[in-house]
Amino acid sequence: MSKKTMGTHHITAIVGDPQENVDFYASVLGLRLVKKTVNFGDKVRYHLYFGNEEGSPGTLITFFAWPGAENGKVGDGEVGVSSYVVPVGAIEFWKNRLEKFEIPYTETERFGEQYLQFQDPHGLLLEIVEREEGSPNKWEFGGVTEDVAIKGLGGATLYSAKSAETAEVLSNVLGLELVGEEGDYIRFKSASELGNVIDIKTTSFGKGQQGPGVVHHIAWRTKDDTEQLAWKSFVEENGFKVTPVKDRNYFKAIYFREPGGTLFEIATDPPGFARDESLDTMGEKLMLPKQFEDEREELENILIPVEVRELK
Ligand code: ZN
Repeated sequence: MSKKTMGTHHITAIVGDPQENVDFYASVLGLRLVKKTVNFGDKVRYHLYFGNEEGSPGTLITFFAWPGAENGKVGDGEVGVSSYVVPVGAIEFWKNRLEKFEIPYTETERFGEQYLQFQDPHGLLLEIVEREEGSPNKWEFGGVTEDVAIKGLGGATLYSAKSAETAEVLSNVLGLELVGEEGDYIRFKSASELGNVIDIKTTSFGKGQQGPGVVHHIAWRTKDDTEQLAWKSFVEENGFKVTPVKDRNYFKAIYFREPGGTLFEIATDPPGFARDESLDTMGEKLMLPKQFEDEREELENILIPVEVRELK
């Protein structure tokens, strides 16, 4: 038996101050804050989700906000760089926009593609690449219009000290296709249009440490609950220990750790972010899962209010 994921569902990272996080991803990058909720395992801290206008799988980056925590270290066993895809011809717009907000960037090339690389305010490594694939993002904000807006995730670069074993998991377990090697990169692709390009960097960066500025995990797509259970059995048959299914309200999740140390999740596409508030207003209000609803007042007092605002 073999299985194939459609690619990245979301990437989850740890950041510091949540308002700085919103200012960067919503106001500078022009993404939609599609859900404002709490970390279900740590309810006194935010879990913020950003994506396209609907928060479609493959467009999502999500954050656990740990204000005041000491920064982590990007290293082996982590997603080193998270990639964003913009329409062809939009890279000049993004250079100008990063300059406007005084965000330093570097330009690099790999596998014949040009990348703009930069960091978010907490040190998370990001890049922007132009690609034809992927539907335009209709969410327009603060001067970011549909013709240049980030369409979603391009994928990610995994840092692994055991790159051959990580590569084996991408091919044999997740069903990604090996497309080439260049320098110290190995490139894989999946069938979908977004979140579909995964690189492994074979150079070791030393051991990573979780904390602000570091990716916590990367999630792969599965189409529904039944298929997720089939994935659970399949990953277990391949020798990995998989967690029970966890209900994350907007999708269901299972987790396992690949041999290089990166935490992998397999997440269902449904039900999505319009399940507990309307598509028009989602992201504006603090949404809590029903088990925390009777603690709303207390939690609203603890959590620093955050808002999407236009930055000049
Ligand atoms: Zn996740």
